[in-house]
Amino acid sequence: MQRGKKIVFVSHCILNQNAAAMGKAKQPGVFKDILDILGEAGIGLIQMGCPEMEFGSGLNRKPRSKSSYDTKSYRTLCKKMAQDVIKQIELYLSKNYKVVGILGVEFSPTCAVYQIEEGNRNVPGKGILIEEIEEEMRKKRFQIPILGINPNNTNSSIEKLQSLLRYG
Ligand code: SF4
Repeated sequence: MQRGKKIVFVSHCILNQNAAAMGKAKQPGVFKDILDILGEAGIGLIQMGCPEMEFGSGLNRKPRSKSSYDTKSYRTLCKKMAQDVIKQIELYLSKNYKVVGILGVEFSPTCAVYQIEEGNRNVPGKGILIEEIEEEMRKKRFQIPILGINPNNTNSSIEKLQSLLRYG
């Protein structure tokens, strides 16, 4: 069997909802519908780290807002993780693999792509890790599409995911 040579980077909790903040898990384990689509398309997955878990708040952390996470030390951690992701992307690109995209998680203070939660509302915004990944890509002058998966309704993300895979 030949390698498919197509890769997608995914936020940690798309493959492991056990990492979600307390009360935020939407599945017992993986988002199976997302995984099925990627599996059928022959895509290799790379699971990014979960900065919130590594930050010291661990598995039993309560949900927090972006502004409460947005400290120098948390930015530094996210920047370091973003740089590691970019290094891996560069490795694949240098060997002519296609990095089809990066999947984040909407409403997260860390991994959201289009919308973050603020109090009881969802407002336009990006998570801190996604901001740092975009910043690192800008510095390196390349761009990989980033798509946010809606954890409350993955169906609403499926069409966008399919079109990412179709044209990626
Ligand atoms: S920080 Fe990102 S990977 Fe970790 S639980 Fe939140 S959305 Fe998932």
